[in-house]
Amino acid sequence: MYRIVSGITTLNQHIEMLSGTPEVYRPHACPHCGLNRLWRHGCYHRKADRSSPICNKLNPVPILRFCCQGCRHTCSRLPACIAPRRWYDWKVQQQALLMPLAGYSLHCASLVAQPCRHTLRRWWQWLEARSEDFGFHLRSRFIELGRTPDWKSFWRACLAHMPLSDAMAWLDQQGVSVP
Ligand SMILES: [Zn+2]
Repeated sequence: MYRIVSGITTLNQHIEMLSGTPEVYRPHACPHCGLNRLWRHGCYHRKADRSSPICNKLNPVPILRFCCQGCRHTCSRLPACIAPRRWYDWKVQQQALLMPLAGYSLHCASLVAQPCRHTLRRWWQWLEARSEDFGFHLRSRFIELGRTPDWKSFWRACLAHMPLSDAMAWLDQQGVSVP
């Protein structure tokens, strides 16, 4: 929860933030014990850049780590452009999911989009399985999303309104586990 720092939509922006205002990544409270005394504790790296050409890749991308002065657990927060627990970022996931949402088959979408068909199927099943929960929270804040006849039309409306990264960052802030 609260793992995503919203508004940081590109890896370049993330890298600028790390040198300029790294404090934005400091969690408000320890996710383990709730104490608000977290100290910087180095960083780890993610191979988050999958879209730049090989010669221009920003990898490895540093992610700041923080250590709780109470329970000594470490934690970190990700910029909105990197998805927790997923190899691909939100932007790639959105591009891939928009195709089956528009009525194309998963097979057809996987020929055009980045992930393999197996991964895309997993994302598709995830989106369907979490739709009720995500939709409930998103509709309560973004009333313009309104009522939709089914989960696919909900996501079409949602992604026309905001990028998947914004939707996930907002859900994360509400304490909803994403992805
Ligand atoms: Zn703690």
